[in-house]
Parts: sequence; structure tokens; C-alpha cells
Amino acid sequence: MARIAYVNGRYRPLAGAAIAIEDRGYQFADGVYEVIKVLGGRARDLDRHLDRLQRSLAALAISPPMSRAALTSVLAEILQRNRLRDALLYIQVTRGTAPRNHVYPKDAKPSLVVTARRPSFPSAKEREEGVGVMTMPDLRWGRCDIKSISLLANVMARQQAAVAGCREAWLIDQAGCVTEGSASNAYIVDHDGCLVTHPLSERILGGITRSVILELARADGIPVVERPFSLAEAQAAREAALSSTSSMLLPVTAIDDRSVGNGHPGTVVRRLLTLYDAHLQ
Ligand code: PLP
Repeated sequence: MARIAYVNGRYRPLAGAAIAIEDRGYQFADGVYEVIKVLGGRARDLDRHLDRLQRSLAALAISPPMSRAALTSVLAEILQRNRLRDALLYIQVTRGTAPRNHVYPKDAKPSLVVTARRPSFPSAKEREEGVGVMTMPDLRWGRCDIKSISLLANVMARQQAAVAGCREAWLIDQAGCVTEGSASNAYIVDHDGCLVTHPLSERILGGITRSVILELARADGIPVVERPFSLAEAQAAREAALSSTSSMLLPVTAIDDRSVGNGHPGTVVRRLLTLYDAHLQ
């Protein structure tokens, strides 16, 4: 069955769906996006994703292309037309089409694209044994809190990690601290048993999965500390993990080929995996 995409008011086969060359997303990466997980026909943590989309748009002064209710209907329609019950929904909004000029055009109409695809969630082996990450300098810009489609530094980092056979790149800032992954948030469990993750700031994307994991941890009595942690601290940590909408929560058992803890997922991360699975039920 051909995949169907929503593009500016129309549902069309993905292969023929197109955006203008002068769309500012194409010219300047002047746009934002969201990725939403759908399980059993239900979009998960939808309000949080739509809130973040609103924040990203506001940060770039792009007007929402339609109301939240209308967008929710498009999401439902795209799932139905693609006959998907489990999916990753992709929403992209750009400032729209205008003659190329850095200055924001006054009257461009935002472009909206929505697609859905079959998800490839982590394997049972990855969940049970954990994954390896590779560290590299964080070369990104100063507004990583905006879910911008400008992802070149993330793409370059992830490519380097993939070539090295690692699941993810962990990005290190100039102070030697782990900010986050190229497409996920990063955590360690320190020697006091606290779940530690970089605080919300312009240096990281506030992950939806991160917000859920921290709530689940706190409600379960796992101490949570939002503070920067160094690479040295991560390598000496008891446990480590990463999270994102599509990877969900995954134990990190090696950083730059050095085992974390005893090289196996630890009790805190395993507990969080159980709690997150329950959240998805
Ligand atoms: N950090 C970055 C840079 C990301 O690109 C992503 C997801 O794509 C995340 C964190 C995780 O965010 P979420 O849990 O909302 O998927």
C-alpha cells in the first residue's frame, strides 16, 4: 500500500508529495517538527508534544498552521489512511514559501506536512543488554530547546557513532559535561542512587520521554537530580540510560567502549523500564 502524506491541505501519495523549492524549510531550515509515538491507535503523550510544538513555533514567531483540534484530526486521518495502529507520526511546520531573503517574510503562510510510518522500536536484546554510545564534542547552536529541523550537527554526530557501531552519540559541551544525545536525552545513576540528567536549558531539547521518565521516577521514590554531569562521572557511574519517543528508554552499558558499572543494565534503569512500559499500557 502506498504511503499517504498530508501536505498543506491535501492527502497525497508520499512519492508524489512535494514542497516548493523556496519553502524556507528547504532554504534555511526555518521550521520545527515533532515526532509522536502511536501504540494501539493511541497517540501517546499527545498534549505534551503539541505543547512543545507550540513553544517551538512561538520561539521562531511562526504562526500555528491550524488549530490544535484541526491538527489532531489530521493526525487521526493520516493514521487511518496509512492503516497504522502502531506508528511514528511526523509533523513538520516551516515558515512557508517566500522569495529567498534571510529576513522573515511578512505574509508567508506556514507549510504543514504530516507523515506516519511503521515504527522500529528497540529490540528485546537492546532493552535487556543495553546499548553503547560514543562521545563527541557538542557542535550545535545555542537554542537546542527549540525542536528545529536544523539538525546538521546532530546528523554528523549520529553518522560518526553509526560508523563506529554505536547506537547513539553523546554530546560533550565545553565544560566537559554530557548535554544529551544526538536524538535522545542522557542519564546516569550516580553513587548515591540518584537519577541524574542535564537540567532543562537552551543547551538541550526538553524530551517528552524525559519529562515522563522523571515524573515516573519521582513518583516511585527514585531520587532525581537535574544537573550537568561530566563524561568522567558518566564513565564511573553505576548505570546510564538514554530516552526518546522512538527509542523509549534504553540502558546504556558502554560509553566509548568502556563498560558502565558491571556492563549490564542496573536495578534503577530496569525499574524505570518497567514503569515506562506500564505508562504505555
Ligand atoms: N534530544 C534531542 C536532540 C532529540 O532530537 C530528541 C528526539 O528527537 C530528544 C532529545 C528526545 O525527545 P523526545 O523524548 O521528545 O523524543
